[in-house]
Amino acid sequence: MRELTRYVDLPHCAELRALFDVSLTPAIELQLSDAGWRDASDAFGVGREDVERQFLVSVRDRHLGDEAIFNPLRARRLKPPSGAAAADLIDDERARNGCSWCQSQDMGDSLDAFGLVRSPDGRVVARANWARSAPVSGLVHGNESMHNMLRLSLADFQTLFRTAEEYIRRSRHRAPDVHYFLCFMNGGHKSAAGVAHCHLQVLGQALRHFAYADVVRSRCPSDYWQRLQTIHTGLGLSITDGTSVAWPSICPAKERDLVIVGPGLEASSAFVFQLLQRLWDHGTNSFTLAAILSPSSVGISDDSAFRDWPPVVWRLVDRGDMRSAHGDIGASELFGSVIVSADPWDVARWLQD
Ligand SMILES: [Zn+2]
Repeated sequence: MRELTRYVDLPHCAELRALFDVSLTPAIELQLSDAGWRDASDAFGVGREDVERQFLVSVRDRHLGDEAIFNPLRARRLKPPSGAAAADLIDDERARNGCSWCQSQDMGDSLDAFGLVRSPDGRVVARANWARSAPVSGLVHGNESMHNMLRLSLADFQTLFRTAEEYIRRSRHRAPDVHYFLCFMNGGHKSAAGVAHCHLQVLGQALRHFAYADVVRSRCPSDYWQRLQTIHTGLGLSITDGTSVAWPSICPAKERDLVIVGPGLEASSAFVFQLLQRLWDHGTNSFTLAAILSPSSVGISDDSAFRDWPPVVWRLVDRGDMRSAHGDIGASELFGSVIVSADPWDVARWLQD
């Protein structure tokens, strides 16, 4: 990660400097007793000099004001939680407590005025969320074979997003003034999922985009996402399948934060699934996955504020291990700066493998 500060001084990195402030700051030198060094040596597994003289890399988005502070040494002090595999824990929880979403696919008790949407094979349904979060507020989920998010197949994953797209089409037929949509998956309790059964949420509203997208629209250059892509590709961080492009962000919302730009929900879903699987292979088992749809992706071509946006901007963020008791976002993330352990170059290497 310290490498990043070297890039900043290179002449071809003017693009990076235009969007980000990057600095390398030494922390006050640690003074370790012999006993302190023995403990630190066990915890960090690096040389004494690296523990005593730590450096922090801070990256601040000049337009959004977001700041991430990296210290990859922090990741070394935590042993990964042990015990049953995360996918088995989700199966065990259903065996213990049951799941009403697995037991019924009828779903006729609370309907949107335009009804519900089913996938052609009947395994996935998109239906009203009775606890409305927006004027358009739907849930998309599979039958009992798709309860466990960590056991989804590629076809399952694609069908969820294909059905979400159909739900959006149907909702716009009923409410044509709704242009602004979000589609997201809270992957597990650590990511604020209140229901264990794997599901997407679809939210839509008319007057403006949801807050994060609206802040980007109002504060950033109109070609912000293209600039980010250029910068991250220049840093050797991007991955593509030919139509969608992903990169681990140098200014992440939390650990292992990927930005993915692509042509549509279903159109990018296979690529997103592959990325997700690589993260699962490397220990991610709780995640936030959000897809921000530009108005063009729902057929609105005259919204000039979003003219330069990719049809869909995805964010995929690791949300900590479901087997550890503590949360991943604390006071520092809420009221200070985001403290990050994962090095974007490590994440990019897994994905590019
Ligand atoms: Zn279930």
